[in-house]
Amino acid sequence: MDGRLTFRYDSTGQPVALLPARCKLGRHTLGHSRFRAIVHDGEARISCLACAAESADHCWRLVSTTAAPDRAELSEERYVELVRSRSQATFAVGCGDHAQ
Ligand SMILES: [Zn+2]
Repeated sequence: MDGRLTFRYDSTGQPVALLPARCKLGRHTLGHSRFRAIVHDGEARISCLACAAESADHCWRLVSTTAAPDRAELSEERYVELVRSRSQATFAVGCGDHAQ
């Protein structure tokens, strides 16, 4: 796992999931590139389709301890440390379940 999915609450108290604004390798801004977000079995996977097409490490894997909110938005600040450490890491292919 890369980290933990975080939330904020809007003015009406509804949870909004915060997704990383950049893909795992830091090469694409997900607001501009296409991405896919799936929450399944307590794990949120945010996959950058541009990196996936290149067989790069495209998939954020974030622990999600609550049910997925109906809404999500991208957060530049929230995951900046993760992006920074990740962009220096070696490439790994895919989004499999192998230990990291
Ligand atoms: Zn990417």
